[in-house]
Amino acid sequence: FNQSLAGLKDLPAVTTDDFHVSLFTNTGLLADVSPGLRNGAEGIGLYRSEIPFMIHDNFPTEEEQYLVYKEVIDAYSPRPVSMRTLDIGGDKQLPYFDFKEENPYLGWRGIRFTLDNTTLQVTQLRAMVRAAHGRENLKILIPMVSRIDEVKTIKELLNQVISELVAEGKQAIMPKLGIMIEVPSVLLLLDKIAPYIDFVSIGSNDLTQYLLAVDRNNPKVSRLFDNLNPAVLSALYFIRKKCAALQLPVSLCGEMAADPASVLLLVAMGFDRLSLSAHRIPKIKWLIRNISRADAKKLLAKVESAEDESEIRKVLNKKLKELG
Ligand code: PEP
Ligand code: MG
Repeated sequence: FNQSLAGLKDLPAVTTDDFHVSLFTNTGLLADVSPGLRNGAEGIGLYRSEIPFMIHDNFPTEEEQYLVYKEVIDAYSPRPVSMRTLDIGGDKQLPYFDFKEENPYLGWRGIRFTLDNTTLQVTQLRAMVRAAHGRENLKILIPMVSRIDEVKTIKELLNQVISELVAEGKQAIMPKLGIMIEVPSVLLLLDKIAPYIDFVSIGSNDLTQYLLAVDRNNPKVSRLFDNLNPAVLSALYFIRKKCAALQLPVSLCGEMAADPASVLLLVAMGFDRLSLSAHRIPKIKWLIRNISRADAKKLLAKVESAEDESEIRKVLNKKLKELG
């Protein structure tokens, strides 16, 4: 079975009725870069830039960041690399920059933190843009967006960084800019934000957490955290349709993308870009190559009338069992 999965590396993830899904990888450690390529990832859908920050003992300098980002961008070129700006706060703390909050998930996190620390944000943007020198595959992704002004400010900073680099005689091109959809307010702001961005990526872990008001890491409420909750599924379908109407490319990069039961529904909804851990790619590719989108749509219709996630899971597991 494993051998047959390995044989899939160079084959496309396409359903039996010809719906193509691009599979990208999530990464953050340099050690995770080559497994993505080995497993046939079409690019990096989510580079978690906080990981190199977390394994350092102080804020990495522009030069240090530049070298790490360049290695990743070069390794994947010409395949796209979506680098997310620093997403600390919430459960992700830097050992050398500790701060305590009553409600860390609702506090100084991701873009909120970096926009209050402009030098840090500008340094990171400079390192990313410089690392893409001579390449066209860098995309920049903003975490934890909840308001339009955050997107506009990042865009201004990015323009400023590009002008400065050009003034310094360096070649610098504007990367594609996207946002993570993980805070529910963004669902209702997409029309307004869309003109400022080139793509979106759904962080289904945080979207589930914020939509259901369930801490993603608290064992006392973990039974309430479920990506298959009907509210989460309808939010995802809403986003898919909204992005289609806005002609905004959308991918999904949370754990759901690696969960076969969820992937059945994502394919049915029309998600054609998923980003997941490298080692999960072969299994998800196998699944996609062995289903038809028409069948997946029938499952979605069934699931839409289900009352709760346990009923939904039953329907999906039955289908997975049939597939073997
Ligand atoms: C997510 O929230 O789903 C996501 C992919 O980002 P992270 O897990 O890094 O918060
Ligand atoms: Mg997230």
